[in-house]
Amino acid sequence: MHIVVLGGGYSGLLAARLAGRHSNAKVTLINASDRFVERVRLHQLSSGQQLRDLPLAGFLDGSGVDLIVDQAIAIDAEKQTIRLRHAEEPVHYDVLIYALGSRADLDSVPGAAEHAHSLADADGAARLREQVGHSGTVAVVGGGLTGIEAAAELAESRPELKVRMVTGGRFGAALSDRGRCHLRRTFTRLGIEVSDQVQVREVRADGLVLAEGEHVPADIVVWATGFRVPTLAREAGFAVDGNGRMIVDATLRSVSHPEVYAVGDAAAARRPDGQELRMACATGLPSAAGAATALTDRLAGRTPKPLRFRYYAQCISLGRRDGLIQFVRADDSPLEAVLTGRLAALYKETIVRSALTAERHPALAKLVS
Ligand SMILES: Cc1cc2nc3c(=O)[nH]c(=O)nc-3n(C[C@H](O)[C@H](O)[C@H](O)COP(=O)(O)OP(=O)(O)OC[C@H]3O[C@@H](n4cnc5c(N)ncnc54)[C@H](O)[C@@H]3O)c2cc1C
Repeated sequence: MHIVVLGGGYSGLLAARLAGRHSNAKVTLINASDRFVERVRLHQLSSGQQLRDLPLAGFLDGSGVDLIVDQAIAIDAEKQTIRLRHAEEPVHYDVLIYALGSRADLDSVPGAAEHAHSLADADGAARLREQVGHSGTVAVVGGGLTGIEAAAELAESRPELKVRMVTGGRFGAALSDRGRCHLRRTFTRLGIEVSDQVQVREVRADGLVLAEGEHVPADIVVWATGFRVPTLAREAGFAVDGNGRMIVDATLRSVSHPEVYAVGDAAAARRPDGQELRMACATGLPSAAGAATALTDRLAGRTPKPLRFRYYAQCISLGRRDGLIQFVRADDSPLEAVLTGRLAALYKETIVRSALTAERHPALAKLVS
């Protein structure tokens, strides 16, 4: 029995470690890089902070999980093999855990791929760090959590920059009134201008063109409008939704291929009430734990239980000294309860660290997911 985990980010690394721990199968983790990327800190990297170097091998020592560092370029669903860019022979799997994560959505608007920077992967965030000068205007496009964290981090670490957020929706729409109020106050304190309910039509070397034709000058454009998933699952013929995320059942198993599981951003997982889980580390860890448990239950002849999962909070960093913890109902809708300021920054930092702790000590995964 060979379990192959494709993708060594938050969800894949945890799934590999748990599958290795709870089964007698041979487990192989395939990842494009030999480093673990703390994606939830990439806005810190892009604004000039140093992130810890985290070799993947360090997480796997003594775990019995083999690591292959290579890029998967195709999956043959019939032969149950994965073709790698730098290997002659494909890798065969009996069970596949698909955890390829997501990347920036740079194709939705003309010029974004050529002129905008993304924070969605380490290379993009590092390039942005090199490009951001000590003066000039940065336009952050996208008012979701990633855009908010990026704008706040840049404005706090580089006060000489003029930071502007441009977003299609209402600013802070997913937050409670109290949450939105704190966000506005913080953005005002950091000098971040917000243009909301405007659509960007084009990105150019000198800034943005809005739907009405208005030109918004910017030296740097940061693209944070959402994530896209890799196309390998769709190309392999696995059942995927309109966004290319693998459709899975309540045990995270592919609805079209029972030997395949999907976790993290690349999976279209749902709660029992049908609600689709959002792309987040907060989803990736529990989905990885759920898939590994379901898989090892099946291998041991037990009937797996469906994923039990609810959200408790959206944790937003607003630079290093401020934050916003927006507590939510089980369906992710905001309550009026929020935590703000330094305590919120500390809370968020604790959550980010505990995600890494779960990767190192998978027995603790249940506590943080
Ligand atoms: C700036 C930023 C801030 C964020 N903040 C938060 C937050 O505060 N809270 C939160 O819950 N979420 C946050 N997120 C989202 C969170 O990072 C993702 O939801 C999470 O990383 C998803 O985990 P994953 O395991 O599915 O994918 P990833 O962590 O992206 O891992 C995917 C892995 O697959 C590898 N891979 C991809 N393609 C291939 C291939 N073809 N072959 C081999 N390997 C491949 C990649 O190298 C990577 O290691 C943030 C994201 C960003 C960018």
